[in-house]
Amino acid sequence: MTAPQTHRPQGLFELDPQALEAKVVELGGRPFHARILRKEVLSKGILDAQELTSLPAALRAALPEALPLLVGHALDRRESRDGAIKLLTGFDQAGLRQSAIETVYMPPRKKNSTKGATVCVSTQAGCPVGCPFCASGIGGLIRNLKAHEIVEQFVRARALGPISRCVVMGIGEPLLNLEALQRALAIVREGLELGARKVTVSSVGFPERIRRAAASDPRFDLAISLHTPFQEQRDELVPAMSGVPIDEILSAGDDWFAATGREVTYEYVLLGGTNDSEDHARNLVDRLVGRRATVNLIPYNPSPELPFRRPNPTRVENFRALLEEDGLVATVRWSRGLEESAACGQLRAQGVAGETDPDLDSVSAT
Ligand code: SAH
Ligand code: SF4
Repeated sequence: MTAPQTHRPQGLFELDPQALEAKVVELGGRPFHARILRKEVLSKGILDAQELTSLPAALRAALPEALPLLVGHALDRRESRDGAIKLLTGFDQAGLRQSAIETVYMPPRKKNSTKGATVCVSTQAGCPVGCPFCASGIGGLIRNLKAHEIVEQFVRARALGPISRCVVMGIGEPLLNLEALQRALAIVREGLELGARKVTVSSVGFPERIRRAAASDPRFDLAISLHTPFQEQRDELVPAMSGVPIDEILSAGDDWFAATGREVTYEYVLLGGTNDSEDHARNLVDRLVGRRATVNLIPYNPSPELPFRRPNPTRVENFRALLEEDGLVATVRWSRGLEESAACGQLRAQGVAGETDPDLDSVSAT
């Protein structure tokens, strides 16, 4: 006898287009309703099938039981004073935080802006890279997300308001799950208008994967997390890439530019007393000057369980000025959602050790 399986109907974004059409017809709809269904859910961020008023009532009524719009469980939701909203979603089991992932909805900072929000999505549950300053890597990789689980993050974010940009900078290393990410982005673009330059994928920079991605007609910009110009230190700060020469990573970045015509952004998490010295700045310039690239400095978001500290704003500004003095273009990105310890990976990390309240699912979910 085979082991009992957990039975749940497949969700809207799990089915391929043919299977979805067949399912919609089986539930009393017409084939073309399948497309409408996906497009409406994505473009409006619809979480409740009853709101799909352009569909026949019988089909609408059948959806929750037979073809759920979403399949994840809403585990937590934090809103910070700056307006960023962080969602924690579990896919494996209600209440289970270990494999939960985070999605952040960041409305424009300026009030009255006509622009939509930037949404930050995750690509893996956990992360195998193990950067010692990052809460997402604590506990290693649990599993790759499936394409529909990435799509679902966009739907949940869209339900909070309009979206005009996406950064793939949540939990996980996107280039280790590129196929699912690309499939998800293709589906998302059916409903949300996200131009090629509106999506940025951040990676620690596996050279061969960058080259493969560049050859696959990527419709996104690339950011590479470099963090230091010194080889020995990079091996410590990005453990899964230990031994991969920085020069090889930069050369893959050059190849990305040659193949796509898009400049790479090099990300640099500024860790007080660790990689924010003048020597670091000068050596970073030596590595990058003359390349078609910009630098994005990210002052470290402290996490209670991690032994790093954030440099003060003057030191951050000095570091930036040193880079610019020598001809690099450098910007500073102060992360949002800090007050609620809702910075990258922290919401999940907080709850992993403790028990979760499974009731939250029914309170704040879909
Ligand atoms: N795994 C990918 C993408 C997710 S992390 C990567 O590492 O690039 C997105 C960015 O957030 C990376 O540049 C990462 O170094 C940075 N980051 C991780 N933890 C951080 C922290 N505590 N404070 C500031 N930035 C952090
Ligand atoms: Fe993974 Fe990126 Fe965090 Fe490093 S910084 S552990 S690669 S998510």
